[in-house]
Amino acid sequence: MALTHDLDLAGLRLSPGEGRRLALDVPVEPLFFGSERYAAEPPAVPVQLEVSRMLGGGYALHLRFAAAVAGPCMRCLEAAAPLVEVDAREVDQPGSGDELDSPYVSGETLDLAGWAHDAFALAVPAKILCREDCAGLCPVCAANLNEAGPEHSHARVPDSRWAKLRELKLE
Ligand SMILES: [Zn+2]
Ligand SMILES: [Zn+2]
Repeated sequence: MALTHDLDLAGLRLSPGEGRRLALDVPVEPLFFGSERYAAEPPAVPVQLEVSRMLGGGYALHLRFAAAVAGPCMRCLEAAAPLVEVDAREVDQPGSGDELDSPYVSGETLDLAGWAHDAFALAVPAKILCREDCAGLCPVCAANLNEAGPEHSHARVPDSRWAKLRELKLE
């Protein structure tokens, strides 16, 4: 499988106003949240890229792909891999100011891997969960509540002996 890190836009030889749709495999680097690592699955992601050469010069780019984000569930720490859909656009028109100057295009080279990584990071949900209704861990004993079930409970919380200790600490 040939991986595309960078794409030579000039090499597409598009005339102004012309566009092309490309299917490419792009390596997407893992994300880190705190010390936890979340990998794109698959790590070489099949993407759809539309490149349009604009009439006034420069390029309009549209990137789409879907990949799972695999790592520990942020509630219960078991393996999670929710699917993330990415739909991102960039415009690079030289000499038109910052807004239309894509950070991923330098000269006529597109940093496709860098763009895919950043777009993936933006599309990932704030909480990565093993399933949407993950019950998480018991705050008292850290049992996995998905397995322990709703009947899991602690009759004496807080334990009276601990309550005594807390009182002592306050003095
Ligand atoms: Zn979970
Ligand atoms: Zn418990």
